[in-house]
Amino acid sequence: AVNQLTKDINTTCAYCGVGCGISAKVVDPELHLVEIKGREDHPANYGRLCSKGSALGETVSLDGRLLYPKVHGRQVVWSEALDELVSRLQETIEHYGPDSVAVYGSGQLLTEDYYVANKLMKGFIGSANMDTNSRLCMASTVAGQKRAFGSDTVPNTYQDLELANLLVLVGSNTAWCHPVLFQRIRAMKEQRPDMKVVVVDPRRTETCDIADLHLAIKPGSDVLLFNGLLSWLTDQDALDQTYIDKYCQGFDQALEAARTSFSDMQQLADVCGVEEQALVQFYHWFCKTEKTVTAWSQGVNQSAAGTDKVNAMINCHLATGRIGTPGSGPLSLTGQPNAMGGREVGGLANQLAAHMEFTPEDVARVGRFWQAPNMAKFSGKTAVDLFKSIDRGEVRFVWIMGTNPVVSLPDSNRVIKALKKCQTVVVSDCIEHTDTAEFADILLPAAPWSEKDGTVTNSERRISRQRALFPLAGEARPDWWIISEVAGRLGFAEAFNYSGSADIFREHAALSGYENNPKGKIRDFNIAPLARATDSEYDALEPFQWPLSEDAVEGDIDGSRSLSVTKPVMSNTESKARFFKKGGFFTQNGRANFIATPVQSPLNKPGKSYPLLLNTGRVRDHWHTMTRTGFSARLNQHTDEPFLAMHPDDAERYRLSDQALCQISSEFGKAVVRVQVSDAQRSGEVFMPMHWTRQHSESGFSGVLVNPVLDPVSKQPDLKFTPVAVEPY
Ligand code: SF4
Repeated sequence: AVNQLTKDINTTCAYCGVGCGISAKVVDPELHLVEIKGREDHPANYGRLCSKGSALGETVSLDGRLLYPKVHGRQVVWSEALDELVSRLQETIEHYGPDSVAVYGSGQLLTEDYYVANKLMKGFIGSANMDTNSRLCMASTVAGQKRAFGSDTVPNTYQDLELANLLVLVGSNTAWCHPVLFQRIRAMKEQRPDMKVVVVDPRRTETCDIADLHLAIKPGSDVLLFNGLLSWLTDQDALDQTYIDKYCQGFDQALEAARTSFSDMQQLADVCGVEEQALVQFYHWFCKTEKTVTAWSQGVNQSAAGTDKVNAMINCHLATGRIGTPGSGPLSLTGQPNAMGGREVGGLANQLAAHMEFTPEDVARVGRFWQAPNMAKFSGKTAVDLFKSIDRGEVRFVWIMGTNPVVSLPDSNRVIKALKKCQTVVVSDCIEHTDTAEFADILLPAAPWSEKDGTVTNSERRISRQRALFPLAGEARPDWWIISEVAGRLGFAEAFNYSGSADIFREHAALSGYENNPKGKIRDFNIAPLARATDSEYDALEPFQWPLSEDAVEGDIDGSRSLSVTKPVMSNTESKARFFKKGGFFTQNGRANFIATPVQSPLNKPGKSYPLLLNTGRVRDHWHTMTRTGFSARLNQHTDEPFLAMHPDDAERYRLSDQALCQISSEFGKAVVRVQVSDAQRSGEVFMPMHWTRQHSESGFSGVLVNPVLDPVSKQPDLKFTPVAVEPY
């Protein structure tokens, strides 16, 4: 159902993991005109929006939209497209088995879409080959949190960023990538100038504008930096021994690994590439500041040592007992709008559903709940490996939903080669011409942000509603509907007989509480009370954080009850919003694990042929592969073409001047862009934005350069550490 004209519609921003609340007023539904402003009573943003969020209204027109199903470029009706899809899917499974098919989804999918896709693959088709572009976003945090806490649980909240006396931002250009959180931090720092901000990042970014200390460490030295901190905390007698003894295990092994990774402070500072004095300053502040938050983003996650980086930071918080208390704790800043919701439903190939894993007990439990005939029993293929499997001919049918892997995955040339070879490529998207859609046998028109309806979860575990602003255009349909239609044609109509997103959400909520032993430990992710939400309660759902206890339901359940989560919650100070202040970790024995994080040498280092190190990332006003932000003239103004940022010494060494064209080459491909000479770069390191695609600029596309090196634990690709060479073009 679409909300009434001129009424303010509360929804959630389509972009980053901050998950800002939006109040939208439809001005003209025919012309797709809408006024966007920040929602004053949303606890993520309290009315604020950044440049991308406030320009959302400029990106919802029908220009470039995919409005009709297509088979080999020919417009067809839905039934023909779906019949063709199902016949190819069945034929592939019949000949090559369920693991010859795969779904590659997106952190842009709503939780309900994710849930249905995951259920179809893992319970009914019988393969766990369902991974998403979230593997590129925060898989290392998931793996690190699971190793430390026994669960993928974010212990703290956004408010802790404001309550902290010391905020350590690691591998995060928060000012550009999580701008509203940056606005909140900056406002607090103006109010409390004593609040210290330390930025750990090889580049000097806009985030450093509020930094008391910028540690421009050498790329990849983060584990060493935090190993040094753990050792320093021990030497300075700054450990919380009571917390360690009562709630944790493995401290001695972690400390030993930390201590053996360096010889003395001078050597530690040299390897990290910073002044010893600056290092000591950081360690001293961390030692003395009870209210410390360490927040991180893709500089940590997108790394061959990403999981170890996460654990090296968490180790320091466990060692000081600074976790899950107001103003203290480790906090991952998720990149995408619904990467967290995807994690909740099991949208990664190594997850099952509702934070359950591929253990025999969980497989049996989920199988009973779904009444699933073909439960997958083992993890499936993760993003980069999935496309390699397509290239090797092992996966012969892939369904790509709401993402553009030809641009965003490393070693794009191999992804293109794989898609050309693949027997069947299905692409569901709201945009007709993407780099990936070019390879589609079947193109399915999915509903975009402004026409779909469901829920998303932000980086602080807050679930918010996304609501449709306009009726579905053309023949566009919600992803959950498309997937359910396929399931029905495969013979699973009863299990996928959903009448709307509320139905799916109720089932997802019920699974989160299914067979929880009331006397035993409940699972971390629990929103079971919402299994009883009516359609109108679901529609009225206000932003809330999980887990939800039974007191989310007020009154009696026989009709007089109501859900407290249909009223706005303006504060996240309540203790239940935080985890682990008093231990209670989700490991077998309830103790957190310190993880030993020895320093590993990078697999792919700069050398004679490729002497520079390429880092990739975002610019302020674009999102992913620009399929939406590219429509806004205002957003295009900030940075109108791709570039290579380079230190003046390197520019001189390679005979390049500012704005000159240069060719960049790596072992995997080549690109040509303009040089931006900048002393914000360290010498020996260059930076290129990730947004521009082959369609925008055949020559200026970063994905062809990036090496497909993976973190061995999380399987997240290292998008920030590729050896390259540059020369004048
Ligand atoms: Fe949207 Fe993120 Fe900007 Fe908030 S900070 S308005 S969620 S892009």
